[in-house]
Formats: sequence, structure tokens, C-alpha cells
Amino acid sequence: MKRTLPGAAAAVPALPLGPSAGQIPQIGFGTWGLQPQEVSTAIRAAVAAGYRSFDCAPVYQNERQVGETLSALIAEGVVTRSELFITSKVPPADACSQHRTERALRQSLHDLRTGYVDLYLIHWPFCVRSPEPGRPRPWPLPLEDQLGYSAEQLREEWRTIEALVATRAVRHAGLANIGERRLAKFLASPDLAVRPAVVQVELHPYNQMRALRALCASHGIAVTAYSSLGSPARPAKYQVQADAHPLLLADPAITQVATAHGASAAAVALGWAMRRGVALIPKSAHRERIASNLAGTLALAPSLSPGDLAAIDALERGHHYLAAGWRCACPASAWASAPARRECDTCFFRCRGYAWKRGQSLQELLDDAPPPLPPVGLGAALLLLACCCALVVCKARRHAVSRDAAHEVVRRLSFGGMPPI
Ligand code: NAP
Repeated sequence: MKRTLPGAAAAVPALPLGPSAGQIPQIGFGTWGLQPQEVSTAIRAAVAAGYRSFDCAPVYQNERQVGETLSALIAEGVVTRSELFITSKVPPADACSQHRTERALRQSLHDLRTGYVDLYLIHWPFCVRSPEPGRPRPWPLPLEDQLGYSAEQLREEWRTIEALVATRAVRHAGLANIGERRLAKFLASPDLAVRPAVVQVELHPYNQMRALRALCASHGIAVTAYSSLGSPARPAKYQVQADAHPLLLADPAITQVATAHGASAAAVALGWAMRRGVALIPKSAHRERIASNLAGTLALAPSLSPGDLAAIDALERGHHYLAAGWRCACPASAWASAPARRECDTCFFRCRGYAWKRGQSLQELLDDAPPPLPPVGLGAALLLLACCCALVVCKARRHAVSRDAAHEVVRRLSFGGMPPI
């Protein structure tokens, strides 16, 4: 069920946040990649265009500038704090420790100049062990300093988040970069005091996350899509093997729908996600795009036909633009030859990305492995034997029945239907 936010952002629909009374605007503004000197102009343009939701993180290294701009807009009477929906995230370098998670939130509140965040997410699918005080952090990070999340480890980190929600400094909490199996296990934790309100993942027509969306829908969790435009200007470490990354906004299926509606390819990608019930946080540093990503999408989304939506649904290919970069963002030179590429893919120390064990697949990084198929043991063999026996008996009975029928025909022909003497 969608509701509409009050005030200046009245045109932006909102998604409900679980059983609480909260809601998240369905189109918000992404801040990753905004240079500190671009932040003020971009945030002011976004607020003027009608955005009220801002997706931030300490890792983006611009939270302070976002906070300065939003607090100036509040002081100028352009918006009120209660109209805003501010998201921040606990950085991987802090998420392994309760003390550091609390400290990270305090820092974000300070930088964002607010007493609370509307949403606090666990940012990445792993945390990084803090270095000893005074010891510089080596790079690439030693493997043993990168701690992956099992559902159980995630549960431990979530206890800190639950405590922060209890203080009201965090209004809603959520997870990012998690697959459906790990999320399902996490949700099955018997003592969850706070249920995740939002799951934020890379989601676009090439990576539609259908199983995760279905799981979230069944638990009343809102899904936020990041990189919903295909993150065309993502940093170099996510661009390796660039020819293997098709340009989302140049996809013929998307441009055809765009041409048919006289809309931009960006509005089609965003409009499709809106119609699939997902919240969006497109980023732009340009005023016109900032405005059109909101107004153009709101105008287009309702008029996308079932055929348009089906054509975009058909683009699914499980393609990650960003998440793949965590596992193995090799230096570009490593992609020069097939053997180097293989080595880069399997040897962690040639990679500058993240993993928590050698040769780890992206799937393992983001999600738990599927349950193993039951072994073909004695039980299965007995079942097979029973089936074979049943088949043989059936055939024999059918044979006996047809033999009796043949005898009857012969008998009738021989005796003209008269009873035999
Ligand atoms: P995105 O929104 O898919 O793409 C942003 C890029 O698209 C920018 O380079 C922008 O360029 C360009 N762009 C914007 N509007 C456009 C338009 N109408 N036509 C053509 N190009 C357009 O990618 P993203 O920044 O990766 O993701 C969005 C937000 O999600 C981030 O800013 C961040 O807040 C969040 N995020 C979260 C995570 C996580 O781990 N939780 C990971 C990644 C991102 P210009 O700026 O030059 O206009």
C-alpha cells in the first residue's frame, strides 16, 4: 500500500515501513560520488525539485557537506527536519564492534547536523577488523582482517543497532547488500527486537533481485534500489573489464520504451523500478537531471504498459555493476590476458577488493550458499527399488488382464457365446 507524503514533496509516493507508522519516499537522492564542492548545489537543486529523502554514508566522504546544506535549508525555512528522510550507514570498518558502531552513529549525527537519522543501515556484506591503535591500515587489507557475515554474525551486529533504535537516535534500521537466503536466516532469529524496515541492494533491469523482493514483500520490508541507472560513472575499480559491463541506459529495450513515450532512458529504468514497488535513490550532480529523474519518472511510471514492463522484466541477467567490485577489483593490467585474468580472479592477493576467504565467489560474499541437495543414500535406493517392483507388478497384472480378455474373445468365437459344455 502506497501513501503520499505531506508538504512540498506531495507528489512523491511513499512506501510503508513495516508495522511502524513510518514511510520512505519512493524516490530519494543518492549522494555517493558527489564531490564535497558539488554537494551544496546538488542538494539545493534536489530539495527544490521535490526530493525529501537523502541517502548518505560516511564512506561517501561528504556527509558533513550534506549536513551543512540540509541544516542551512532548514534554517532558511525551505524545509523542516520532519519533512526530510535521512539515511546513513554504519561503515564496514566500524561494524565489527559495538563501541565503534555507536561512535560511527554519533559522528554521522554530528556531520549531518541532526538529532536522529530516519534510517540506519549496515552498509556492506562484511565488516573489517579495526587496526590496533596507532597501527596504520595496510592495503590491500590482510585477509584475516576482513570478516564476513554469517546470519549469526549479522545478528550480533544487529543487537547494537537494536540498542540504537531504542535510544530513538535511529528511527528505522535496515540492511544493505544482502541476499535472500542470508536475510531469511536472519529474519528467523528467535529474539529479533527490531525487524529490518528496509533492505538496500543493487537493483536495476539487469539485476532485478526477484527472490529478495518477494521475501521482503512477505515480511513487510521495503526494498531500496541503488545503481538503478547502472551507475555509469562508478569509480575505476568497478570498471575493470569495462566491455563486460553493458550500458544499461543504452539497452535497446529501454531506449525503445523511452522513444515510444517520448521519455528519457533514465526515466524508463526508474519508472520500471517504481512500478515494481521499489524505492529509488538516483544520484546526479546536474540540476536538469536531478529534476528530470524525479519529475520525469513520476510522470512516466503510471503510463508504462504491461508490455513495456514485461519487455524490461525480460532484461534480467544477474549483472552486478558495483557489488562485483568488492570481491575482486583487479588493476586494469591484470585483465590484459586470460591467464592473468584467471589468476586475478582466484588469487586474493592480486586483487584490491574485498573477500574473506581465498577464491570466494561474489554469491558467497553477498549471500549464504543454497542448502545442499539431499544425498542419494540407502533411502533413495530403497525408494527406487520399490518403484521398480511396483512397475513390474503393474505390467504383470495388465498382461494377465489382457490375456484373460483374449481368452474370452476366443471362447465367444468358438462357442457362439454359448456356455462351454
Ligand atoms: P546511479 O544512480 O545508477 O547512477 C548515477 C550516475 O548516473 C551518475 O554518474 C550520474 O551522472 C548519472 N546520471 C544521473 N541521472 C542521469 C540521467 N538522467 N541520464 C544519464 N545519466 C544520469 O548510481 P549510484 O550512484 O551507484 O547509485 C545511487 C545511490 O545509491 C548512490 O549515490 C548511493 O547513495 C547509493 N548506493 C548505495 C550503495 C550501498 O552499498 N548501499 C552502493 C552504491 C550506491 P551525473 O552526476 O554526471 O549526472
